[in-house]
Amino acid sequence: MTNVKPVSTEAAAEQAWQHGVVARNGLRLGIDLDGVVADFNAGWTAIHNAEFGGELTADLVTMWDGLHRIGGFADMDAFWEWARGNEHRPSIFRHLDLLPGAPDTLRRLDDDGHRIVIVSTKPDWAVHETMHWLADNEIPTREVHLTFEKSEVDCDVYLDDAPHVLHELVQHRPDSVVCRFVRPWNEPVPGAVDVHDWTAFHAIVTAETSRRVTETSD
Ligand SMILES: [Mg+2]
Repeated sequence: MTNVKPVSTEAAAEQAWQHGVVARNGLRLGIDLDGVVADFNAGWTAIHNAEFGGELTADLVTMWDGLHRIGGFADMDAFWEWARGNEHRPSIFRHLDLLPGAPDTLRRLDDDGHRIVIVSTKPDWAVHETMHWLADNEIPTREVHLTFEKSEVDCDVYLDDAPHVLHELVQHRPDSVVCRFVRPWNEPVPGAVDVHDWTAFHAIVTAETSRRVTETSD
């Protein structure tokens, strides 16, 4: 037993306190999918390369709504027409990889006692494939909203990467914490918190929980 490291009772107590408090005060976390949980740009460029023989890479995407130029389509309507799939393959949404840190952090947040609320914008033709994708990847959620009006879904904390969505959430959800997942295609949004990775998002959620607990106990 001489090699067994003593457990820090202070850390254990802190962990137990935090878990108990969070479990009783779990937050509703509004989580976007594409560009946040799912690697949308790696997914569509890989399919594009397979079909057209090019060498597109995800890092070419540096602006919102510029995908058609990268893909060689006339406009975004043409891009989405291609994206929806055909008799030979499903849509580009069906088999996207997970972004680093996303699944582990979502599971941890769920274990902590928070509610994972998926809030994603998808065309009608991608709804069932999105449900398949969520199941395939065992995303820990009981609540899925596929909507063009994200601010109608009431959450305590939001995580999104779309510039127009971030502005909408800040405007319509002033009491919530709106997190901008920092990506090359978005810019700082007044009122939104910059989040660079999933570890930072976990820390923000935990801090917000503590803040609310302290506020209500004052
Ligand atoms: Mg997104």
